Amino acid sequence: MDHDATSPVAAGTAPVRDDEAADRLGLLGRRDFSLLIVDDAVSVRQEVRRLAGRLGVFGTCREAENGVEAYKRVLEAAPDLILCDLVMPGVDGLKFLALIRAREELRDIPVILVTGKTDVETKIRGLELGASDYVTKPFDAGELLARIKVQLKIKALQDELRRSNELLQELSSTDALTKLFNRRYFMAALGTEFERTDRYGSPLGMVMLDIDHFKRLNDTFGHQVGDQALRGLGALIHDAVRTTDIAARYGGEEFCMLLPETDLEGAAEFAHRLRLGVEDKTLLVDGHEVSMTVSIGVSACPNPAVESGDDLIRLADDALYRAKRAGRNRVMVSER
Ligand code: GH3
Ligand code: MG
Ligand code: MG
Repeated sequence: MDHDATSPVAAGTAPVRDDEAADRLGLLGRRDFSLLIVDDAVSVRQEVRRLAGRLGVFGTCREAENGVEAYKRVLEAAPDLILCDLVMPGVDGLKFLALIRAREELRDIPVILVTGKTDVETKIRGLELGASDYVTKPFDAGELLARIKVQLKIKALQDELRRSNELLQELSSTDALTKLFNRRYFMAALGTEFERTDRYGSPLGMVMLDIDHFKRLNDTFGHQVGDQALRGLGALIHDAVRTTDIAARYGGEEFCMLLPETDLEGAAEFAHRLRLGVEDKTLLVDGHEVSMTVSIGVSACPNPAVESGDDLIRLADDALYRAKRAGRNRVMVSER
């Protein structure tokens, strides 16, 4: 039987079960996938677009007639799936594939090659270049849709995994209450920053803060209000530091700030400003007006007495202890 040259779909193909199309793979209800169809023949693009539309999972569908145009479309917005012809004038399917696989952020986009070329060597080259699957024209409509669904399922799982990893990364470095960095992250950052100081002699300031009589605040207003106060202080610290500084909740009501490119005088100046900022602020928590004061210890390096990040913390902690002893609500600077 002669195949209609304008249609890429094989005659007498299996029925397309679009009612079941997306369900078993958990794609049902999703309308947010984006598709890019790359083919130099407009009739093929139209036919593939029409077929893919039957799945009901694509929110957007774009077209490109050669590899260069397709690459531009991908850079504008990365699609969830690419259906790509092999033989096209200029940049063909294989070159296009090589282009997008060379970029880290585009590496995971599934690409199904849809082509009239049937020789095994071309198939192997395509797969080696990173094609996810291969469909030969004239194709069976049902088979193409089945292969699209499999690739979308993989893509959806990959996206979910990436999101989980990002969340995990955030959770493992963030303090849940204040959204500042946690102690673990702070210690790792201190290691890196101290190494830089040690090697290049650039200044590094350390500020350690402890809320005064915080137990009293908890006892008076309750733990919940105490938590709100900690959140408020976290926000204040977040606003006070530079984006290059690292601010963390170091313990219960203790905060640490690492100030790169800041010497002892600079760090002390910052600490004085922060102390005043806390003193001046009244938090309204559950109808209670809550005010706090803080004691702060400051240290910095390069400093002959500092041979490690731990030394820097110890000096700031000693200074903080002296601030408490001297009557609280004050800043003490470590002696050089
Ligand atoms: P000082 O001025 O000497 O620092 O007195 P303080 O009461 O702040 O110090 P102390 O170390 O005796 O008590 C700290 C209190 O901080 C004890 C605890 O109830 C409270 N705290 C620690 N972590 C949290 C927290 O996550 N939420 C709340 N609400 N309170 C906390
Ligand atoms: Mg404390
Ligand atoms: Mg305290």
